[in-house]
Amino acid sequence: MAENIHPIFERTVQRAERETVNGHRSGVVWLTGLSGSGKSTIAAAVERELFDAGHFVVLLDGDNVRTGLCGDLGFSLEDRRENIRRIAETAKLFVAAGAQVLCSFVSPTRAIRALAQDIIGPEDFLEVFVNTPLAVCEARDVKGLYAKARAGEIKGFTGIDSPYEAPETPFLDLKTEHQTVEASAAEVVAAIKHKLSF
Ligand code: ADP
Repeated sequence: MAENIHPIFERTVQRAERETVNGHRSGVVWLTGLSGSGKSTIAAAVERELFDAGHFVVLLDGDNVRTGLCGDLGFSLEDRRENIRRIAETAKLFVAAGAQVLCSFVSPTRAIRALAQDIIGPEDFLEVFVNTPLAVCEARDVKGLYAKARAGEIKGFTGIDSPYEAPETPFLDLKTEHQTVEASAAEVVAAIKHKLSF
């Protein structure tokens, strides 16, 4: 009976109300790229800039996700997919709560990123390709992972013996090789500004 249905969503605080109070739109900035390309470093700089400007901003990356929410998952294609599915669902909850969510994950295949985009919704998904050549990432080798992958100590490492499929039409193609972290962060902030403000 229609008169007996009382949808709870009519009584909950709406996303639009939250956005009005926050003074900005919510959405997801999804950074994809090779290990060591600079995703986490750039995302942290963007987070700082947005936070200092008074935004409700949240950063999701391997460090805070792989240990808890996805602590039971490994790096098989199946587990990588489940990892991204959970992250995307989490990001979606934060979007509904009014946040600007920065997601920093290798997310190596087009299929995996399409899954994230599907869950989050294309209108709320801004894909940033942290476009740093493999040779540069490998030379940096911040965590020593490329050396281990080359030595065969890590199997299925993205870019070495597991594929990375570059986005074909990213929202932003960020070429980091010849610019500072600050310049890259500024480029991201400038690109997302018109999408995430009123
Ligand atoms: P990812 O999250 O993609 O694995 P990280 O951000 O953890 O990459 O590591 C990238 C490393 O490269 C950091 O130590 C960072 O300081 C360094 N780096 C050097 N130059 C740049 C640059 N232009 N842009 C981003 N990171 C850079």
